[in-house]
Amino acid sequence: MKIYIKTYGCQMNERDSEAFAGMLVKAGHTMVSSEEEADVLLFNTCSVREQAERKAIGKIGYMRKLKNRRPDLIIGATGCMAQRLGNRLLEELPHLDFVLGTGQLHTLVPLVESIRADRRQVASILESEAVLTGMGSHFRPAADPGNWHAQIAITRGCNRFCSYCIVPYVRGREISRERSDIVAEAKELVASGAREIMLLGQNVAAYGLGGNINPPPPGHSPFAELLEELDRIPELLRIRFTSPYPTYFNDRLIGAIAASRTVCHNIHLPLQSGSDRVLREMNRQYTRDSYLGVVDAIRSAMPDVTFSTDVIVGFPGETDEDFEQTREVMNRVGFDNSFIFKYSPRPGAKSAERVDSVPREVKEERNRILLEDLRARVEKTLKQQLGTTVEVLVEGVSPRNPERWCGRTGTNRLIHFEPVDGLQPGMLRQVRITRAGSVSLFGELI
Ligand code: SF4
Repeated sequence: MKIYIKTYGCQMNERDSEAFAGMLVKAGHTMVSSEEEADVLLFNTCSVREQAERKAIGKIGYMRKLKNRRPDLIIGATGCMAQRLGNRLLEELPHLDFVLGTGQLHTLVPLVESIRADRRQVASILESEAVLTGMGSHFRPAADPGNWHAQIAITRGCNRFCSYCIVPYVRGREISRERSDIVAEAKELVASGAREIMLLGQNVAAYGLGGNINPPPPGHSPFAELLEELDRIPELLRIRFTSPYPTYFNDRLIGAIAASRTVCHNIHLPLQSGSDRVLREMNRQYTRDSYLGVVDAIRSAMPDVTFSTDVIVGFPGETDEDFEQTREVMNRVGFDNSFIFKYSPRPGAKSAERVDSVPREVKEERNRILLEDLRARVEKTLKQQLGTTVEVLVEGVSPRNPERWCGRTGTNRLIHFEPVDGLQPGMLRQVRITRAGSVSLFGELI
């Protein structure tokens, strides 16, 4: 069968879609890049924001026309929205053949094959902790010389229950993969050409703590031990990870990152709010000061580090003063990038029981202010790079200008440059910065 996968949402979903492709190809099926040529359409959905759900439902609804023309077409939905809505999704979209929950991802191939043989609507939804073992051994299909970047899921699910978040309900409790399994996957990816690996999980820094939500004691961090083992893979050049919860950054983890050959000095550290009152209501277990303490500790171990973050504006009851505190923390840390979300209640999450009290225009305005602060800050920081020489991992032809190539620094700055003969994606090269744009830099290869 020819299969087309459309992925919504986070990097974890992207990684799951890669794993689906790996399983399907191994079972003799073919991946295709358009809906028209496919026998099976799979929508890997997201539930984290209302808009993401609306987009996926709209798209699957639109596929009804294609199914009317080609009744043999199999259409399925998986991912967080499929887990959340289950049978309701099949009722709402009767042309949908199956929904596959997040605890059942490893059963995709037999499920699709059984639907082809015996046409019927199926909802396969289960709260299962076996999923991680099931997903662990499914890699990308084949060695791809252009595949310099790869992603590995190291944890799944979350035990933290932030009040606005639906992840613990749709992805289940937190599980960590075996370290030996992750290292074997990394070695296989590196042998097939990967030079940068992104470690993924809802809370990667809690890796190996058995789901304990209390911060690990000083000197203890299984995540640091994993980074150290991956750091010893000779041809691996860079390791990135996302997302870590701030309270897991202790001396052991910070020391391991600072001493590492490969771990990038770019940390995504979700803030969500700079107001202690709002943080408490979000059930985030840190304060403004303890968050800034983590930033300071990381910065003193790695003075060149850059930070990015996630922030929610318009959480129920967020006042102008709360918002100003968020703005102040953001300016103080000087994030290089921020993902700013306007609060929307997610059915099932605790905060959805509260009135969504901040008007839409106020959320829009707060979002606009933070984006403007970010734009001004990034412009200033990029100008400070002029004349410096930096090391980039070459990514390939620039998506915006086919005559240029681009690469990224370990601190996650995007640099564009003229290519030279013999340049290949995945190489490390030195670049002198000659021009600063509003979001990226330009330079010359040395
Ligand atoms: S840490 Fe909080 S925001 Fe992140 S996935 Fe877990 S519950 Fe959601």
